Amino acid sequence: MIQQVTVLGATGSIGKSTLDVIGRHPDRFAVFALTAHSRLESLYEQCCYFKPRFAVVANEADADRLWQQLAAARLPTEVLFGQQGLMDVAGHDDVDMVMAAIVGAAGLKPTMAAVTAGKKVLLANKESLVMAGNLFMQAVDESQSILLPIDSEHNAIYQCLPQQSRYFDRESGVSRILLTGSGGPFRTTALEKLVDVTPDQACNHPNWSMGRKISVDSATMMNKGLELIEACWLFDVDADDVEIVIHPQSIVHSMVQFTDGTTLAQMGNPDMRTPIAYGLAWPDRVEAGVEALDFATMADLVFSAPDEQRFPCLRLAREALASGGTAAAILNAANEVAVDAFLGHRIGFTDIARINETVLGKASFSEPADLEAVIEADFYARELARELI
Ligand code: NAD
Ligand code: MG
Repeated sequence: MIQQVTVLGATGSIGKSTLDVIGRHPDRFAVFALTAHSRLESLYEQCCYFKPRFAVVANEADADRLWQQLAAARLPTEVLFGQQGLMDVAGHDDVDMVMAAIVGAAGLKPTMAAVTAGKKVLLANKESLVMAGNLFMQAVDESQSILLPIDSEHNAIYQCLPQQSRYFDRESGVSRILLTGSGGPFRTTALEKLVDVTPDQACNHPNWSMGRKISVDSATMMNKGLELIEACWLFDVDADDVEIVIHPQSIVHSMVQFTDGTTLAQMGNPDMRTPIAYGLAWPDRVEAGVEALDFATMADLVFSAPDEQRFPCLRLAREALASGGTAAAILNAANEVAVDAFLGHRIGFTDIARINETVLGKASFSEPADLEAVIEADFYARELARELI
């Protein structure tokens, strides 16, 4: 049977890669809905090609514009808008799978709508798990939704974990998770030069082509910090059992170690279509348009420990995890505001970590009773971060 897919954040880097894989397998996948916040032109072109039942945009004016274009092209796509529109297409009865690829906190509610409706959820939007991990995983349990990590590292860990229990289960002999990270573009830059780094330099990742927010997060290694938090929730593992390993070539995407001395690694070229195809086709495998590794020509693979002095955001993520409650949501919100200000040339590169640290230091944390409490903490942290900026 053909699977109906909603792609949240279709015009982004992950969204486009998802559509690339879907387009290779019209016998398996059809597009049910596409959503975008800006780049309407790009969304219109995607609608022409994939002919989804729904498209979702940010507001009514955009919806009118897109609808007129689609009607002129005699396309049957219905246009919705706003958060309710996103939640509707994520939880719709006729949807089998949801790719959660909106960037940032904006992805929380639509992703949760997919989880609550019991969909198979392909999770790229790590921020929703960072913000509301406890509530999120509870909802997964209750709805029996299948949650497949798309973040390349977590997808790698998922693939390496024992099939019978895809979490950190000592009974299955799992002893350690090794979360790899490239170290970003500034792994070896002289520390005193980091203050002068520009947004374009920060977004110029050596191995991965990604959206601007996650690219900056990779440069500060906040991304690896968020991924540590993400791993703890996804695999029910303590931060102490996750080791971050710097691996500049991004060929090994993460590893799992076992008590008998075995280390399993998942490897591949750095192309997000591999974890996306894994998620879409799971439990099968399909062609993703990604070339297999050629070990005869491969350069040396190098591994080392991370430098927390250079990358204070790693330490902040560990602190947020230890504090628990809304601490991670607060760190995430401060970071989104700081990264946005950096991309807008309003603060310097090293200010990002300073703002994150100050906001985390000033905030108080409690266990959020529901999503509204998480969103309140997020709002408060944003205000604080904006004041500092
Ligand atoms: P991107 O900036 O390229 O795309 C983001 C998408 O979200 C776009 O379609 C945009 O229109 C939509 N969007 C933005 N703000 C929105 C809002 N307020 N409401 C609704 N939609 C909104 O981002 P990306 O690089 O594709 O990343 C998407 C998610 O995937 C992020 O959470 C990121 O951390 C995660 N991720 C990305 C990669 C990668 O290689 N790009 C790898 C791992 C994880
Ligand atoms: Mg990643």
